[in-house]
Amino acid sequence: MPPLLEARDLSKHYGQTIALESVSFEVHEGVTGLLGPNGAGKSTAIKLFLGLIRPTSGSAEVMGERPYESVESRARLGYMPETETLSSNMNASEFLMHMAQVSGLPPSHARTRAADILRHVGLDEERYRPIGQYSTGMKQRVKLAQALVHDPVLVLLDEPTAGLDPGGREEMLDLIRRTAHTFGISMLLSTHLMGDIERIADRVILLEGGHVAEQGELSQFTKETTDLLIEVDDHREEVAAALAKRGVTVVADGSLLVAQDASDADYDVIRDVIAESGARLRRLSPRRHRLSEIFLGPES
Ligand code: ADP
Ligand code: MG
Repeated sequence: MPPLLEARDLSKHYGQTIALESVSFEVHEGVTGLLGPNGAGKSTAIKLFLGLIRPTSGSAEVMGERPYESVESRARLGYMPETETLSSNMNASEFLMHMAQVSGLPPSHARTRAADILRHVGLDEERYRPIGQYSTGMKQRVKLAQALVHDPVLVLLDEPTAGLDPGGREEMLDLIRRTAHTFGISMLLSTHLMGDIERIADRVILLEGGHVAEQGELSQFTKETTDLLIEVDDHREEVAAALAKRGVTVVADGSLLVAQDASDADYDVIRDVIAESGARLRRLSPRRHRLSEIFLGPES
């Protein structure tokens, strides 16, 4: 099976402007983050995979096919564009039904499909209101809904959290993650926000000035620290007290206990104390650095 997406020595120049210069990467199942500052080439890469533009050189393949040479692959992709593309007089229900019919579903199926998807993105109640009256968050959800209506294998999301406040951003990211899990649809999420990637991506491709700066599993970029995270089902207070008695100080952090700067000897003490306490251990692992500590850069 070829990868879902594959860029091979892919370049795209717009006249004198170099948007992408000989980039190579693969996108596989799951949620992949395409991270990079403005102008890095994220939208250009997405448009190449959609077949909206052609490479200057190299290739962009969707499941082994070149989208700019055949239209087949387009049906397997959903696209949530960065720009406002919604018609404001239509309501969400009409719009989704229209998109479902365009994708080839007969009217009766299109109606059911539209209703199901709108319920999934949380626009059940408002679906008969004109889109022009929607908030930014609601418009983003309609844009996501139309990208899902033909049951694609992979959805390309171009800056889906742009213009959202922190609450709306969290909701959108949760919805994307939930969609990926519920429907088994893979996602390529373009964003300039590391926080978005940290929250939902399994893998990350970092683009900078038209080049791939880094790529790999997210965990690869979030190095371990010397802090140990401890999560037990119960007896949390007893565990903390017993550890303090044995010389290991822990602080509570939400439902976790954190042993800062823990040595190997501390690790053994923690294991013993938990075993003696009868508490069920859910997790005992080093805390990882945040992505933003690894890639220094503006967070917004
Ligand atoms: P990103 O989505 O990461 O912000 P883009 O792919 O939109 O980056 O842009 C990459 C570079 O290509 C930028 O320098 C941008 O100005 C340029 N660019 C993008 N689209 C065009 C276009 N249609 N014509 C000319 N230059 C473009
Ligand atoms: Mg862009």
